[in-house]
Amino acid sequence: MAMEFEDYLALESELGAHNYKPLDVVLERGEGVWVWDTDGKKYLDCLSAYSAVNQGHCHPKIREAMFEQAGRLTLTSRAFHNDQLALFYKEICELTNTSKVLPMNSGAEAVESAIKAVRKWGYEVKGVPKNEAEIIVCADNFHGRTIAIVGFSTDPAARSGFGPFAPGFKVIPFGDADALERVITPNTVGFLVEPIQGEAGVIIPPDGYLKRVREICTDKNVMLILDEIQTGLGRTGKLLAEEHEGIEADLTLIGKALSGGFYPVSAVLSNSEVLGVLQPGQHGSTFGGNPMACAVARAALKVLVEEGMIENAEKMGAYFLKGLGEIRNNLIKDIRGRGLMIAVEFHAEAEGARRYCEALRESGLLCKETHVDTIRFAPPLTITKDQVDWALERIEPVLRTA
Ligand SMILES: *Cc1c(COP(=O)(O)O)cnc(C)c1O
Repeated sequence: MAMEFEDYLALESELGAHNYKPLDVVLERGEGVWVWDTDGKKYLDCLSAYSAVNQGHCHPKIREAMFEQAGRLTLTSRAFHNDQLALFYKEICELTNTSKVLPMNSGAEAVESAIKAVRKWGYEVKGVPKNEAEIIVCADNFHGRTIAIVGFSTDPAARSGFGPFAPGFKVIPFGDADALERVITPNTVGFLVEPIQGEAGVIIPPDGYLKRVREICTDKNVMLILDEIQTGLGRTGKLLAEEHEGIEADLTLIGKALSGGFYPVSAVLSNSEVLGVLQPGQHGSTFGGNPMACAVARAALKVLVEEGMIENAEKMGAYFLKGLGEIRNNLIKDIRGRGLMIAVEFHAEAEGARRYCEALRESGLLCKETHVDTIRFAPPLTITKDQVDWALERIEPVLRTA
């Protein structure tokens, strides 16, 4: 069956659940920062699959590791050891200065795993009475789509119609360390927060926020859980965004770019005793820590570091942000970013960012609005200065128009 653009859209619409509203583009190939649609039109990917392809599309070294592993051994389950897991642990621990790792698959699973681990730590180590553990989260958070996670979302689209939800979560405003201090009780076991809120529209907290949060959590014996699934692995110009404030979380969650986009791989990294509370049979995943995932993640981490992608994100991010800042349009409310995690936010009078994303697609850039009024620019971390210039040349006329 020869498929045309319209055929793909019609089939998807007929047969698929409508839980996404993608731009009208059907992609069939990717390389580095570029992707091509079924008509052969080339685009610069400014979303990077929500920062899962930080290393660029189809990175040859990650692909090679995947092919090689796929021909040897893909899945053993954790009923047996495999020859990749220990090396994955060793390399990620050395890179992130971590002492224990729990490998999972999706980001949401890493979040769920952290919640389970800190609750258990709360009962067994901190001495919280049975079933009284509390976890504090922030308004406008995005941590994934499971029932427990959407239960503490404040986004009506994410949560309404999906209850009843798990108890034990308290919501405070993002960026407000005093609020954290106020709501902590002796039963508080964890504070779960994104260093920069991604899906909320690249919301950067006030300087010093994470530092204060770290102090408060240490002081009150509360586990600080940083969700770096989007901010981590170079996106903000550091390996982990926590480095911008010189702190270390008790638990760090990574996913997305941990595989460079080849395969779902996530992990809970812990510097504390908290992962030590999990005993055989108490938590797991059939695919978590499988040899294919480990081989892919090892290669994804290696190229991120060896090819200077983290430093490049810092440099190119600053250059991109400066270029965007020169665009004049009264409908633009704010332009902000850290590294290659950049947002342009429009005033309500602009009537949404979607139409800009559609115009940018026409010009050869793939971007996605977050919520209604914000466009996120998050290209692969391999982007060059010439490619940023290429992007700015096309973004400027689109964003300049009313
Ligand atoms: C994407 C994301 C998640 C969820 O990851 P999935 O792999 O989609 O489950 C969690 N937290 C943050 C900050 C994310 O950006």
